[in-house]
Amino acid sequence: MHILVTNDDGVAAPGLAALAETLRDLGQVSVVAPDRNWSASGHVKTMHKPLRLEPARTAAGAEALATNGAPSDCVALAVLGVLGSPVDLVVAGINPRANLGHDVTYSGTVTAAMEAAIWGLPAMAVSAVDGEGHGYHDAARVARALVGAIARHGLPPMTVLNVNVPALAADQPAVIAVTTQGLRTYADRLVRREDPSGRAYYWITGDPPSDTPEPGTDADALLAGKVSVTPLGLDLTHRAAAELLRAWRIDVP
Ligand code: MN
Repeated sequence: MHILVTNDDGVAAPGLAALAETLRDLGQVSVVAPDRNWSASGHVKTMHKPLRLEPARTAAGAEALATNGAPSDCVALAVLGVLGSPVDLVVAGINPRANLGHDVTYSGTVTAAMEAAIWGLPAMAVSAVDGEGHGYHDAARVARALVGAIARHGLPPMTVLNVNVPALAADQPAVIAVTTQGLRTYADRLVRREDPSGRAYYWITGDPPSDTPEPGTDADALLAGKVSVTPLGLDLTHRAAAELLRAWRIDVP
């Protein structure tokens, strides 16, 4: 099994190294990652500038390739042949904070996995609620178990597993809950300032988002100290809304 490991925090991020090292005995592990932090970059296809690929090292000293492209570009580069052999599975992470609810379209970690699904590969995004301390170690252990499960069972086409691992106590077993995407509420706020020439500029800032822990959701599982595994599909169609729209009368003059 040839596993591609990527992330959105950059090739030097400790979560990437923890993930790659933990998966190494399951097969051939290749690391292709961005040369800088692309967190909250969303799903990107770089088309208007050349992509570079340079030899690099992970934080564990392992061989890697670093690109000036986005996390999703890393997956496309690997799938389109830069590694010299086909990739069987893509694992993105470990992100140092959770990716819940609507985070999934912002997240470079999740959208890297989505890019893999578009190419027909099984894929998983792994985030640790608390990347410090044991966070990466626990999340990497969970990722390893899930890669084994995917190897045994396969995943349906166009499926991404969005995995969030809570902070676990030293003797606490990792209990997996299969969840739905929850509702995350953002507390964004606009800060307007002026540059020295009097032109306005803006920061989108604010407080961390809050979650509505509806039963069965990703946030609810984390609150209960469980590992959240949300299978995401790439078909974003809102089928109930489609039914409503079919009943609309729309006259285009
Ligand atoms: Mn990140």
